Amino acid sequence: MKKYEEEEYLQISGIQHFSFCRRQWALIHVENLWKDNLRTIEGELMHERAHDKTVTELRGDLLTVRGMPVFSNELGVSGTCDIVEFRRSENGISLVGRAGTWLPYPVEYKRGRPKAEDADRLQICCQAMCLEEMLLIEIFEGSLYYGETRHREVVEFTPTLRDLVRSELAEMHKYFEQGYTPKVRIGNHCRACSINALCLPKLNKNLSATKYVAERFGED
Ligand code: SF4
Repeated sequence: MKKYEEEEYLQISGIQHFSFCRRQWALIHVENLWKDNLRTIEGELMHERAHDKTVTELRGDLLTVRGMPVFSNELGVSGTCDIVEFRRSENGISLVGRAGTWLPYPVEYKRGRPKAEDADRLQICCQAMCLEEMLLIEIFEGSLYYGETRHREVVEFTPTLRDLVRSELAEMHKYFEQGYTPKVRIGNHCRACSINALCLPKLNKNLSATKYVAERFGED
């Protein structure tokens, strides 16, 4: 199995962009174009709240760790878990400086409400797969917390979801190595796209965003 070097790592959060629209992911992660809009700013505020100053908090049999960095050599990704809950369990692992054994349970904060598409589920599953590789333990489920509904959606890390994570990441690595940005594919998703103003889907069906910016602003 291929092992990725650290400099080849992609951002875990990119998998939700890639699943939403391959071009959106490439514009952000390959071409480094980004534009804040209300949705992304709201999302960042939620993440800031999740990554507040409290790094760990112990309440009874629940140890909560915020902003935990994770990575995987096998998947070639790195990122940060909003929250990892460690639940006291005899099937868990030992943690430095803590008595007993603990089972990790990742929780990711999202604005909005639960979606039919798997984009958010892929992200939390990818985080869990990183935790598994780092902690040498199997993780069966985690949760997505949605700001609009203020509820958690439990996500089961099924073999199908794990396979989808692996195949999407393999495709992302291929695009990244090639510096490839897919062409516009107009759809309903374009209306909710955070970088619609940069992609200009109707005007630029056949033009790369980098070329568009260069032409628009007179750069070479
Ligand atoms: S505007 Fe549409 S095609 Fe362009 S990046 Fe967004 S979702 Fe993809």
